[in-house]
Amino acid sequence: MNANPPLGPAGRWRGVIEEYQDFLPVTDKTPRVTLLEGNTPLIPSRSIGPSLPGRIQLYFKYEGVNPTGSFKDRGMTMAVAKAQEEGAQMTMCASTGNTSAAAAAYSAAAGMTAIVLIPDGYVALGKLAQALSHGARVIQVAGNFDDCLHLVREITDNYPVTLVNSLNPYRMEGQKTAAFEVCETLGWAPDFHALPVGNAGNITAYWWGYCEYYEQGLVASRPRMLGFQAAGAAPMVHGKPVENPETVATAIRIGNPARWQDAAQAVEESDGLVQIVTDDEILAAYSELAGTEGIFVEPASGAGVAGVKKLAVQGFFGDDPVTVVCTLTGHGLKDPDRAVALTAEPDKAPADLQTIVQMLGL
Ligand SMILES: *Cc1c(COP(=O)(O)O)cnc(C)c1O
Repeated sequence: MNANPPLGPAGRWRGVIEEYQDFLPVTDKTPRVTLLEGNTPLIPSRSIGPSLPGRIQLYFKYEGVNPTGSFKDRGMTMAVAKAQEEGAQMTMCASTGNTSAAAAAYSAAAGMTAIVLIPDGYVALGKLAQALSHGARVIQVAGNFDDCLHLVREITDNYPVTLVNSLNPYRMEGQKTAAFEVCETLGWAPDFHALPVGNAGNITAYWWGYCEYYEQGLVASRPRMLGFQAAGAAPMVHGKPVENPETVATAIRIGNPARWQDAAQAVEESDGLVQIVTDDEILAAYSELAGTEGIFVEPASGAGVAGVKKLAVQGFFGDDPVTVVCTLTGHGLKDPDRAVALTAEPDKAPADLQTIVQMLGL
């Protein structure tokens, strides 16, 4: 018998571990540390896709609707569950924000303490609010993400604290389930899968997920993986680490990705690519997603869409019908400062019917 019965009535989504237990390194004894992450929508593009040259069926895998607002939850449910199974009491990560939010939430759910190192001044407000609210021990380090990760590796190597960055293999296992969901929703694997690349864990995990379903005979093909880095933080494109990475997309402001080699292999095996998008292109896609699709994402999530737009204009996708999936990695509410900075201030009016009707030109 299963020691961990489903959380909800039959037919309800039970979270990544329970749903995909046959594909994950878990047993009945693995605690289900879940907030019912996963099962995110694959939204057909109604505006951006149809506006592109070629015959592109564009879909958005909207990971912003996960419990803490980013795809990091898929990996964190696994990482924290395994940490608890192994008797750990503390988790630790370096983070540009979303990993810390997820680590803090899942550690709280497991009754564990999360320690979080974040680069001083470069974490979006929503993410910091999450880590603090979930009771993590947050330390702002006078350095960038790469400095933070270096410190975390040293500490977790030498003290009884479990590393939950994407170097943790269980994170990757959990994150690959997003590829499973895409295949299940479409009924097949897409031709292309585009996403932003920061620490390069997610592009790797998707590829592993697609490969697993392909090897199991559950899909007949695998997509070409398209990764996009911000112009000021594009080590994989330049072929060398970036000393001082800079971009408005703070979630991918990383100069020396931990999963660089794995991601490079994923791109090569899939006949994919890693290219640059500028901050302007990222923000244009970000605004277009919100304004024409009704989908609010954080800036980093715009990178994949910006990249697909750029490639489409170059004729990269050809003239035949192709299915392209773009992962929208995080929710727009994560970074309210950016959203407000990019939009006009609301008009002001007295509480007077005539004035408002007149202002609206009705
Ligand atoms: C973590 C993150 C990324 C980058 O993913 P990697 O696995 O580090 O490449 C992109 N967007 C958002 C919103 C993220 O939180």
